[in-house]
Amino acid sequence: MAWQVVIAGGGFGGFYAAQALERLLPAQSAHVTLVNEANFLLYTPLLPGAAGATLDPRHVVVPLRSQLRCSDVVIGKVTGADLARCALGVQRIDGELLELHYDQLIVALGSVSRTLPIPGLAEHATGLKSLSDATALRNQLLSCLDIAESLEDPARRTEYLGFVFVGAGYAGVEGLAELQDFAVQAIAMYPRCRAHGMRWVLVEARERIMQEVPASLSEFAEDELRGRGIEVRTDTTLSAVTERGATLSEGETIPARMVVWTAGVKPSPVVSRLGLPLDRDGRVMVDRTMRVQAPVEDAPSATDAPSATHAPSATDAPSAADLARVWAIGDCAAVPDASRPGRSCPPTAQHAIRQGRLVARNVASTLRGGQPRAFRYRTKGVVAELGRNKAVAITLGIRWRGFPAWLIARTYHLLLMPGFGRRLRLLVDWNVALVFGRDSSSPGRLGSPTPLEHD
Ligand SMILES: Cc1cc2nc3c(=O)[nH]c(=O)nc-3n(C[C@H](O)[C@H](O)[C@H](O)COP(=O)(O)OP(=O)(O)OC[C@H]3O[C@@H](n4cnc5c(N)ncnc54)[C@H](O)[C@@H]3O)c2cc1C
Repeated sequence: MAWQVVIAGGGFGGFYAAQALERLLPAQSAHVTLVNEANFLLYTPLLPGAAGATLDPRHVVVPLRSQLRCSDVVIGKVTGADLARCALGVQRIDGELLELHYDQLIVALGSVSRTLPIPGLAEHATGLKSLSDATALRNQLLSCLDIAESLEDPARRTEYLGFVFVGAGYAGVEGLAELQDFAVQAIAMYPRCRAHGMRWVLVEARERIMQEVPASLSEFAEDELRGRGIEVRTDTTLSAVTERGATLSEGETIPARMVVWTAGVKPSPVVSRLGLPLDRDGRVMVDRTMRVQAPVEDAPSATDAPSATHAPSATDAPSAADLARVWAIGDCAAVPDASRPGRSCPPTAQHAIRQGRLVARNVASTLRGGQPRAFRYRTKGVVAELGRNKAVAITLGIRWRGFPAWLIARTYHLLLMPGFGRRLRLLVDWNVALVFGRDSSSPGRLGSPTPLEHD
């Protein structure tokens, strides 16, 4: 009988694990099933480009079936797991409940936006984590311009021309830079708005933006944003959000109809329903080989500071044998970082991809009676686009800024995007936007058909 390998989550970690398993295990000896909510891998580093209208939203995804040759792709939601029976609970896209039985399970369920109990945040702010978020932000921006243009009262117009981003990691900085660039281009078609002017504000709780890059590059990025008239508020937090504005810790309320929250991630909520041991941040505790680890007293924290762990109670705790069949990777796992002892790997695609490939090798070698290998990876570089053909980047220790960094960033994404056809789509979109500008149509109702009316 063929071994059953089930992968929960088809993002960077899960997709690359499935691709590697197809190479490592002959189809007659193993059956790989990948479960994902959508039928595509979302290439998140290009989400700001989709929000800022340089890329068609459909071109920042990779259809899973087009790249996986012999894995079984199940579109549905993972709902839970029975570890003792080696069964993963799934609600398929048609609503049917399934149980997928496994010999080996890889958990790669990724993360969602991490929110804080800030009044009005959940009701009035938007994240930048999914394709719907990116499309919604693009539409929201254009709606704000359309509404502002139609208003006679300048005071009311101000709030539709105010845009606040909270959280200045690469997602926040890239998202703001792309959307602001888009708005600067689009506003040429809105004479009243152009005369009134826009206000863009980036709020960051820490002392500098983009903690992922060295201070010299973050200073370059900050100067670049300020040079475009963007207000950068460091050492500042968000206190409240309403439909009409964002209040900052300094007490100022910025009139704004669009508030974007990009202040960190937490594991997908379903991870807590799998019965696996979790660290304080809710990530699955794994050892260096990415195999799920039974919790031990004083286990190393998954975060930078020591933290407590919580695991299922003794009565419902899974046995060591149950856990030995389960692996976890990517944003939802606390994989020990060999390059930073005592800390776990940061939530990045470059880590998830490499963890996906190695976990596939480890699963294959475990099934054949071999030993799994430890995950070792040192971040090789970072790229962050700033719009206007500028970026900051580090590659193999060399720091780049401005146009050369932008070229490196685009080449990097082009090479990393799976599939020749998908790369070509990116190239075409980028070049069309360079020559003809960004597309300022607002495809708000795409995917929602007009209801048919009764005669
Ligand atoms: C805007 C933005 C820009 C970024 N830029 C970069 C960058 O430039 N470089 C970089 O290295 N990293 C970047 N990242 C981080 C990177 O996207 C993540 O670290 C990476 O996606 C993690 O991979 P993963 O496989 O753990 O999770 P994901 O890629 O998020 O995949 C998880 C998958 O699980 C699925 N899923 C979740 N819950 C369920 C469920 N209940 N049932 C079924 N399926 C489920 C999801 O739909 C998703 O497909 C960026 C992130 C964002 C949001």
